[in-house]
Amino acid sequence: MILERFKVTNKIAIVTGGTRGIGLAIAHALGAAGAKLVVTSRTDKFGGLESLQKANLDVSFYEGDMHDKSVPQKIINFVIEKYGRVDILVNNAGVAQHGDMEEYNDELLDKIMNINVDSVFRMCRSVLTPMKKQGGGVILNIGSISGLVSNIPQPQVAYNASKAAVHMLTKSLASDYADQNIRVNALAPGYFRTEMTKLPKEHEHWYPIWNEMTPLNRMGETEEIGTAALFLCSPASSYITGEVLVIDGGYTSR
Ligand code: NDP
Repeated sequence: MILERFKVTNKIAIVTGGTRGIGLAIAHALGAAGAKLVVTSRTDKFGGLESLQKANLDVSFYEGDMHDKSVPQKIINFVIEKYGRVDILVNNAGVAQHGDMEEYNDELLDKIMNINVDSVFRMCRSVLTPMKKQGGGVILNIGSISGLVSNIPQPQVAYNASKAAVHMLTKSLASDYADQNIRVNALAPGYFRTEMTKLPKEHEHWYPIWNEMTPLNRMGETEEIGTAALFLCSPASSYITGEVLVIDGGYTSR
């Protein structure tokens, strides 16, 4: 009975950036718990779609660039046309770019804010109408510990600010739409092993620094975030909304 609450059988779930890394692990977790998946990204060059299909999951792919302001609404339209509803929206697509502020040009700033904040705002805005109409839903935004603390040694002011915005967007939306039975939460991951955290040779010495600052003394594996996402997207967390769940091996406990 209790385990039933972790199931999302036949729920329609969108995972943006669901073709690799953290998004792919979240898609696997939701799919294994019974959801019908729509994953989105610009490409599927790491074979994520195939891995979901090989796991016998019900999955569709929507190819779109979040830089294009019209894409979030198009994704929702695609899903509504196909299934008539959206039960779960995971806003995971994101980008990181290190750099000292003095050298951080407008193009980089726009890129970070467009993908990490504006597209999350637009996805949420577009999904609210169908979720209200159908009587509720769940939104999970992927923030970061970088929205809570300033990571070192890498300089990443813009990224940190973008993730803090995701956390506040989450809390505000949760408060505003709780009466519509729409729950909104965020995950704040620490360091996870993905394409995003693959460092060039000259920065490889950051890895031991990251591990040393993490009480569990290692980076997270993406499966470890999939299960946390499933918890927040399933009825197991039915009384949780407006929460930013930190999953960082203890990094922010120090
Ligand atoms: P990856 O770089 O491995 O994956 C990012 C995903 O987002 C890809 O599927 C990518 O697909 C998609 N994406 C990127 N840009 C766009 C775009 N313009 N339009 C549409 N889709 C896009 O990153 P992670 O899996 O590591 O990160 C996932 C989320 O987790 C991000 O929001 C990140 O900020 C956050 N996070 C990651 C941490 C980590 O340690 N890895 C720590 C804390 C937070 P494609 O490029 O094909 O479009």
